[in-house]
Amino acid sequence: MTISLKAGTKIVVASHNQGKVREINALIEPHGLSAISAGDLGLPEPVEDGETFAANALIKARAAAKASGMLSLSDDSGLAVDALGGDPGIYSARWAGENKDFGLAMRNVEEALQAKNTTNRSAHFVCALCLCTPDGEHEIHEGRVDGQMIWPPRGENGFGYDPAFLPDGYDITFGEMDPDAKHKISHRARAFAMLMDRHFG
Ligand code: IMP
Repeated sequence: MTISLKAGTKIVVASHNQGKVREINALIEPHGLSAISAGDLGLPEPVEDGETFAANALIKARAAAKASGMLSLSDDSGLAVDALGGDPGIYSARWAGENKDFGLAMRNVEEALQAKNTTNRSAHFVCALCLCTPDGEHEIHEGRVDGQMIWPPRGENGFGYDPAFLPDGYDITFGEMDPDAKHKISHRARAFAMLMDRHFG
């Protein structure tokens, strides 16, 4: 069996993060898909104890599909900094602390880089997307975007680590970039392109 995704399908986005839900909506609407978020449906947040982005995406998508009886789409993503051995990685949200303070998270990354005494500031964002049916059938697509960490952070757009990330080939950060421009090149956009190619290509 393959999963059937077509215009008019309503899906649940397995996320409680409004920034993410907004970006996902912007990416799926052009394909005639509509989404409601797990947060809006009051679904509980599962424990994300996978060891990879893909494993965590599956945990979230499976839980939302099962609880809602709908086709679900999840996104597990984060920032991997080469000189930090891929940290914060799957712990990207946790580095912001209980208050979800990404000014603090970006400072934590900067301090970790300075402690390494390195000039290597290469990093990439990763996005694993998982589409899952209520009976657990699923597919996963992974996208990434490469860049450099900069300091101090610049820009008010986007969310999370965007102001500290300079994508390769650009002289503005994701935080300074118009959201439409970010949506064309981001890790999430690339994972979505793979998903959409598979179903609408
Ligand atoms: P999770 O996927 O909800 O577990 O959390 C991923 C975390 O990675 C987010 O809270 C952000 O801090 C970070 N992240 C993921 N995608 C982006 C992005 O496009 N820009 C900035 N930060 C991101």
